[in-house]
Amino acid sequence: MFGRLGDTCSLWYWTFFHNHFATSSYIADTLFEPLFWLLEAIAKKAGPIFVTLVTLLTTSVVVIFYSYILPWNAAYWSTPALTINLIIGHWLLLNIVFHYYMAVTTSPGVPPSNVDSPVSICKSCIVPKPPRTHHCSVCKKCVLKMDHHCPWINNCVGHYNHRYFYLFCVYMSSGTIFVCISIYNQFMSYFYGSVGTFFSSLIFPIVSIFIAAYKPPEYFGSTDSSNMPIILTTEELRTRFWVTYEFFLCIAVTFALGTLTVWHGMLISKAETSIEKHINVKEKERMSELGATFKNPYSFGFFENWKIFLGIEVGSGRSIRHVLLPSAHKPTGDGKSWRMSTRKTD
Ligand SMILES: [Zn+2]
Ligand SMILES: [Zn+2]
Repeated sequence: MFGRLGDTCSLWYWTFFHNHFATSSYIADTLFEPLFWLLEAIAKKAGPIFVTLVTLLTTSVVVIFYSYILPWNAAYWSTPALTINLIIGHWLLLNIVFHYYMAVTTSPGVPPSNVDSPVSICKSCIVPKPPRTHHCSVCKKCVLKMDHHCPWINNCVGHYNHRYFYLFCVYMSSGTIFVCISIYNQFMSYFYGSVGTFFSSLIFPIVSIFIAAYKPPEYFGSTDSSNMPIILTTEELRTRFWVTYEFFLCIAVTFALGTLTVWHGMLISKAETSIEKHINVKEKERMSELGATFKNPYSFGFFENWKIFLGIEVGSGRSIRHVLLPSAHKPTGDGKSWRMSTRKTD
């Protein structure tokens, strides 16, 4: 650790005082190097904590659903509505658990030492890099079709686990939307007649959890014509606390993960990884300056890109069933050589 710090200080010294060619961007890059190094170290250390957090929060949502939401829905909903609700809920849960487990435990794929047609050599691993392979500075290895390093799965997202990662995002955000819809009536009933509590809870969710649970019963207002305060038992207060927690946790995840899911969906539609998105934007600008049009060589059009990504293209023997239900099929191709729709030209 101190050796690396010493190297950085020495690099700074030579860069700033003995380098006649130092430009402002070069100096900025050198100054920021320790920051990137710190972020990498945090990402590596935080990985197991993040995985534990995802597991605990997901478990809490499921336990609360069974303990406090299901009994309420069973009392107020019709049998067909409750049955459909339970089928959808368990189907989503099955897919969330399966895809998360697979995203965490499946290696994204590392290039072998002998690659037929390498495009470059990794300066860190000193191995030939196939097309679309990038070096992950957190995992300290090269990753086939690397998308990004994700601390939430404590793994890199690459060729072999990209589908698991993306379907986990899809099923998890669908799951949180499902929970929000399932508990909406119950959640709103607790705030009926108390607009102040409702808006304060929108502004400051964490505080509102405690307000909703621990304020005296009168705080909740009354729907009774006699306008008498509702007397809540400890059990009712506990239910309100956990339902409020469940609703705000799920709505926060819906927005945060939902945005990420839409973004990754747009990239998959264009057969681009997160890294390639940045490369291709620059490439597009460079090509337009030359009066040429850039076309992503790995894109075969919207529908075909999705079929290839999901491994359900014609001739694969798989169908939408392999997307709607857990499936451990391998992605198309070996991640080392890629079929191209166009040839790269200078
Ligand atoms: Zn490498
Ligand atoms: Zn990584």
